[in-house]
Amino acid sequence: MNALTEKQIRASFLNASRREASQAVLPDLDAVPWEQLEHLGWRDRRAPLSAYVVLELDGEPTGVLLRASPAPASGRRRSAMCSWCRDLSSVSATLYVARRAGSAGRDGNTLGTLICEDFSCSRNVRRPPTSAESGDGIEAVADQVVAERIAGLRERSAQFVRDVAATR
Ligand SMILES: [Zn+2]
Repeated sequence: MNALTEKQIRASFLNASRREASQAVLPDLDAVPWEQLEHLGWRDRRAPLSAYVVLELDGEPTGVLLRASPAPASGRRRSAMCSWCRDLSSVSATLYVARRAGSAGRDGNTLGTLICEDFSCSRNVRRPPTSAESGDGIEAVADQVVAERIAGLRERSAQFVRDVAATR
């Protein structure tokens, strides 16, 4: 994705109030490897159950404010697969819930999805394919597997953001 400024990020949230958008604690944007990301996602350092994800939708930076589910009292989460990257080797997805945009959100309407707890989907899809995934491991095939994973990640994450934006 293209590099974003703090101002662009704060203006991108489709389901956050002006106050929520201005109070979000952003990550160090200079340290973000933008060209290797399909979305920028992070937890709020000051409000650990608040999380944010920003991606490009129709060329425009579009952000969603998310709420993470609190860790279970037992201390152990059940492993779950991320519905965005669908990476089988990292099963540390957690349920993130977004308030829908507009009046639906004001009526308490939400949408949840399982996403890698640390939003590491872009790293996961770039993992070199196993021989089971790329057959005899020809490099071109491996590149294609990664390209398909990236396309799938883009599609599923964009669909979630579109669903949050949809005012029905
Ligand atoms: Zn993921």
